[in-house]
Amino acid sequence: MARYIFITGGVVSSLGKGLASAALGALLQARGFSVRLRKLDPYLNVDPGTMSPFEHGEVFVTDDGAETDLDLGHYERFTGVPARMSDSVSSGRIYSNVLEKERRGDYLGKTIQVVPHVTNEIKDFLAVGDDEVDFMLCEIGGTVGDIEGLPFFEAIRQFSHDRPRGQCIFMHLTLLPYLAASGELKTKPTQHSVKELQSIGIAPDILVCRSEQPIPEKEREKIALFCNVRKEAVVAAYDLSSIYEAPLAYHREGLDQAVLDAFGISPAPRPDLSKWEDVYDRILNTDGEVNIAIVGKYTQLEDAYKSIKEALTHGGMANRVKVNVAWVDAEVFDQADAAPYLEGYHAILVPGGFGERGTEGKIKAAEFARTRKIPYLGICLGMQMAVIEAARNVAGLATAGSEEFDHEAGKKRFEPVVYHLKEWVQGNQKVTRRSDDAKGGTMRLGAYDAVLKDGSKVAEVYGGTAIDERHRHRYEVDIKYREKLESAGLCFSGMSPDGRLPEIVEWQDHPWFIGVQFHPELKSKPFAPHPLFADFVRAALDASRLV
Ligand code: GLN
Repeated sequence: MARYIFITGGVVSSLGKGLASAALGALLQARGFSVRLRKLDPYLNVDPGTMSPFEHGEVFVTDDGAETDLDLGHYERFTGVPARMSDSVSSGRIYSNVLEKERRGDYLGKTIQVVPHVTNEIKDFLAVGDDEVDFMLCEIGGTVGDIEGLPFFEAIRQFSHDRPRGQCIFMHLTLLPYLAASGELKTKPTQHSVKELQSIGIAPDILVCRSEQPIPEKEREKIALFCNVRKEAVVAAYDLSSIYEAPLAYHREGLDQAVLDAFGISPAPRPDLSKWEDVYDRILNTDGEVNIAIVGKYTQLEDAYKSIKEALTHGGMANRVKVNVAWVDAEVFDQADAAPYLEGYHAILVPGGFGERGTEGKIKAAEFARTRKIPYLGICLGMQMAVIEAARNVAGLATAGSEEFDHEAGKKRFEPVVYHLKEWVQGNQKVTRRSDDAKGGTMRLGAYDAVLKDGSKVAEVYGGTAIDERHRHRYEVDIKYREKLESAGLCFSGMSPDGRLPEIVEWQDHPWFIGVQFHPELKSKPFAPHPLFADFVRAALDASRLV
């Protein structure tokens, strides 16, 4: 039976609960324990798949095809444990399960209520896989006191009671605001937020206090006294220059020790932090830098491309260089010359995206990279745009486009080089879709195998010809155009095992131009940079030396 750590937040949102949970997971691993991390989100969407990236940041996709909160990306990047469908749940999912059971008659005529039916559903979710790991870390989204969060707080309270004593602890993140005028760190908001937790029956064992200033001993004692926690369990969380310093920083502040103490695990196994020391060293000690443009649509909210940004950082770590990312809005040069906006970067990345807005700009970015021989990595939509550019400007298909945009506009303006994929194979099964399918959860999602062409650039980059990568798309490059495009010089260097779905394209007479239908960024880790990102940054470095 796993030990459970429930992570909640108070005072304000965006305190970095996800990061703290991920770093704690990494520290427990460093002490030899196995961990699994979970996120419980109070919003009513069934999953974040249908939410705009502007609203909620990136959608993180798991191997088993779940569209989840971006915090699962942090968990995976810090622990290396692949996130699963059963690691992410929302109120929407919980209620939809409960209502489905009600309709089926599973509750045998009972009146369905938040307590116990909704809370039981949450508890069932929490218990899945509890015999597989030493520690289960469960983060509750939002802030204590939020109306939607209440059933989750009630459920974790009950859960800790149902389990044997000492099997569950509560860790609460708060903020200590600094008042410059009086030169003081204020503890009152933390006290109030702990009161709020206590009023629903939860007494935190550990307080993680975000602070811009060092926390004086006196304040620490005050927090301990008023919030009813041990002084050693008041852990400081200071701002860091890199998120990858978090495991070392939290260890320095005694978080992992406080957790083991709270469970009464003594003597505590000694931690081996060498992996994180190396990671941090690679960030701290760099030699040179590269400037990479991300040409996208959701550029005002960096969280929309969270995993890409992180994977580029990992690529920099692999080469010991600093990667400077410039966010370039593709829409700006939809109708204009792209060159003034793209000149001077050492590499261009066009990420995934949905909808037509900005796509003409992305096509121009692909053209710019191809003709100027600048390294280009196209991810999902970024690959589709590169193929359309090749079709229009090299293969002579002037009206090439994607069916996605014709669907939106209700017109037929383009030759569908990229078409709506309605049938594919998953394992041994055929999956089918229709044009009028609901939007949620109907894309080609999760891990699929691909076979790489011997002697291709990607086979060299991956160091092999069999890969599996995560997907999230509805549209697909049509192999009908393969011959035409290949004779124009665009090699289809990665295909689905049945040879029907193009997974990777690359320009042959170009130093580094690769488009992938999947999302390699989702599998990159600071301690294991994804080969495509490591090599893309290397190519950018080569390009920087030519300037
Ligand atoms: N909108 C495109 C599709 O559905 C690309 C998706 C993506 O970039 N993730 O195929």
